[in-house]
Amino acid sequence: METDTITAISTPMGEGAIAIVRLSGPDALSISNDLFLGKDLTKVESHTMHYGKIIDPETDEVAEEVMVSIMQAPKTFTREDVVEINCHGGLVSVNRVLEIVLAKGARLAEPGEFTKRAFLNGRIDLSQAEAVMDLIRAKTDRAMNVALKQMDGRLSKLIQSLRQQLLETLAHVEVNIDYPEYDDVEEMSHNLMEEKTQEVLVEVKKLLQTAQQGKILREGLATAIIGRPNVGKSSLMNALVHENKAIVTEIPGTTRDVIEEYVNVRGVPLRLVDTAGIRETEDIVERIGVEKSRQVLKEADLILLVLNYGDELTEEDEKLFEAVRDLDVIVIVNKTDLEQRLDMDTVKQLAQEHPVITTALLHEKGIDELEQAISQVFFEGELDTGDMTYVSNVRHVQLLKQARQALEDALNGMEMDMPIDVVQIDVTRTWEILGEIVGDTVHESLIDQLFSQFCLGK
Ligand code: GDP
Ligand code: ZN
Repeated sequence: METDTITAISTPMGEGAIAIVRLSGPDALSISNDLFLGKDLTKVESHTMHYGKIIDPETDEVAEEVMVSIMQAPKTFTREDVVEINCHGGLVSVNRVLEIVLAKGARLAEPGEFTKRAFLNGRIDLSQAEAVMDLIRAKTDRAMNVALKQMDGRLSKLIQSLRQQLLETLAHVEVNIDYPEYDDVEEMSHNLMEEKTQEVLVEVKKLLQTAQQGKILREGLATAIIGRPNVGKSSLMNALVHENKAIVTEIPGTTRDVIEEYVNVRGVPLRLVDTAGIRETEDIVERIGVEKSRQVLKEADLILLVLNYGDELTEEDEKLFEAVRDLDVIVIVNKTDLEQRLDMDTVKQLAQEHPVITTALLHEKGIDELEQAISQVFFEGELDTGDMTYVSNVRHVQLLKQARQALEDALNGMEMDMPIDVVQIDVTRTWEILGEIVGDTVHESLIDQLFSQFCLGK
C-alpha cells in the first residue's frame, strides 16, 4: 500500500487557459491547506470548490489566485484524498504552484501513477486503466469513443462473464469427479465442458475479429504512397497533410527514408507513409529505400498508386500494379496539366475494379475527388463503432489469441477422448489468460511496465 502523497500538473503542457495541479494521498488536504489563503480546506465538505490564494512560503507573497477542488476518499479517481488546484496564470505560475506543493512535502508523481493507484486501490481494472492511456493518445473521435467505452468497463464485463462461465463449468466438473454417484458422470462432464468451451471460443473469436478495425481506429489506416520517381508522391502527401513536412524535390529518387504522417481525411484516420518507388535499381542507397517500400506494402491497409499522365506507361508501372494486385488500391493519375502520353484505357484495365482518380497536384486539382474515394474505401468496410465492443489494444489481442489456442487445445483433447482432468488444465489456463486482460492474474513487473507508458499527471 502506498502511503505518500503524489502531485503533478495534470493538464497538457502549454495548452488551455487553465492548468491543474493535482494531489493524491493521505496528506493531500493538509498540504493544500498549508499553502492556501482562504477557507480551512481540512474542514470543508467533500466534493466542493473554493476560491483562494496560494502563498509563496519563501516570500510570503501571493503566488497565484486559484480555485481548489476538494475530493475526499473514497469517492475519487484514486480512492485516496484528491485535491485539484486550478490555476489560470499560464505555465510559469502553474510550475510555481507545483514547486510550492513539492516544498510542502508532496512527491512528484511518476507517469501514470494516479491511474496506477486507481488500479491498485480497486477503483478501475487493468483494461480500464489502459483505456485511459488510449484516450490520451486517441487521434480521432472514433478512437476516443472506443477508449471511452472500454474505460466504462465494457470489455472487462464481457471478459469477466466469459471467465465466470469457465469457472462454473470447472466447478461443475470438479463436483462430478468428486462424487461419481451416477454411471454417466464422466459423459455429463464431458458434454458440459465441450459445450461451454465451444461457447467461449465463439466469443473470443468474435472479439479477435474486431481487432483489425480496432487497430485502424487506434493507429490510423496505414496508407502507402507508391509510384515511380518524380510522379508526385511527395506532392500527394503534402496535399493531404496541407503542410510541407515531407520533402518535395526535383531530383528523381530522393525520398530515401520512409516518412510518416497522420491526417484526418473526412473522419478517416490515415497514417501516411511516403516511400521511395518500388523498382529494380543498381543504386545501393536507393535499394534500402526499395526494401523498406516492399515491407511497407505488405503492412499497408490502403495503397495510393501514383502514375504520371505526361509519361507513357513503363514496365515499372506495370510491376507496381502487379505488386498490389490483391490489396486495397486507389490509382492516381497525376500531372493532368501536362500533355497526355499515358494510355488511360490500359490504366483502367490494369486497375481492374479499383478507382482511378485524375489529379494535377501542382495546381491543387483533384484532391477533393481523391479524399472522396478514400472515405469510400474506408466506409464500405463498414467501420461502425455503434454498439460493438472493440479490442484495440495489442496486449489484449495477444492474450485473446493465447486464449483461443488454449480453448482449441481443450476441444482437441476432448475430441481425442483425453481424461477430463487433462482437459481441465487447458480450460483453467484459458481462465487465467483472460484474467490477465482485466488484471486479475498479472505480474507486478507487467503492471509497472504498463503504467510507465502513461503521460505525467494521469
Ligand atoms: P515523387 O518523386 O514521386 O515524390 O514526386 P514529387 O512529389 O517530389 O514531385 C516531382 C516533381 O513533379 C516536382 O517538381 C513537383 O512539383 C512536380 N509535380 C507534382 N505534381 C505535379 C502536377 O500535377 N503537374 C506538374 N506539372 N508537376 C507536378
Ligand atoms: Zn518524393
